[in-house]
Amino acid sequence: MNKQTRKAVIAGNWKMNKTPSETTALINEMKPLVADADCDVVLCVPFIDIAAAVEAAKGSNIKIGAENVHFKESGAYTGEVSAAMLVEAGVEYVVIGHSERRTYFGETDQTVNLRTLAALKAGLKPIVCVGETLEQRELGYTETLLKFQTKMALTNVSAEDMKNVIIAYEPVWAIGTGVTATDDQADEGNGFVRAAIEEKYGKDVAKATTVQYGGSMNAKNAEGLVSKYNVDGGLIGGASLKAEDFSIIVKAASK
Ligand code: PEP
Repeated sequence: MNKQTRKAVIAGNWKMNKTPSETTALINEMKPLVADADCDVVLCVPFIDIAAAVEAAKGSNIKIGAENVHFKESGAYTGEVSAAMLVEAGVEYVVIGHSERRTYFGETDQTVNLRTLAALKAGLKPIVCVGETLEQRELGYTETLLKFQTKMALTNVSAEDMKNVIIAYEPVWAIGTGVTATDDQADEGNGFVRAAIEEKYGKDVAKATTVQYGGSMNAKNAEGLVSKYNVDGGLIGGASLKAEDFSIIVKAASK
């Protein structure tokens, strides 16, 4: 890792894949492959897989995350899961505002912010996703949009709490498509996110915040992407479902 002030975080996002027994098998396969990592290794798994994942990861360097969290502490919210529930289950990280949730489940910048605040209050580390669509990029709105989404997500988040916040720049056109941002596009997008953090909190916080890239990162392209100054690891979808590919990405971020 060449950015002395920040540690890379490689986080898998399993989406709606793997049953509990498949979770145990995949984590057991991954454990020895990532044991020497010099970066943080996180697996964000479906709610139903959390107990199996926490059990399988025990005693290893793999931390477990969830893929969403509700913003209320408790109450009549059928089907939802609170931050306190996740903490008690052994979860340390949570993905918030993934583009699939924004697109298919009505997630807005406001609910992303509320979820981020709820996660931080409970002691979880939010991995907050921001990113532009292809249309927004082609219209020239990438910088404006990334800065807006980043600042909206961080409304009422204190500078102190920023120590526990990770932002993932995930261009929507690169997620699950096999089309990856170039190394320079990733560095630029992550740089816009970092600039937004600097405008809100100042240079020191901006320099210290982990900003991941996500979008078709894989065993072949990870090394180039994570070598960029602004890219502090990745949020990995498809490639996090294959132990060997995921471990190659972890190794690339450990250099
Ligand atoms: C993701 O789900 O956040 C993601 C980046 O997916 P993929 O790596 O498959 O593009």
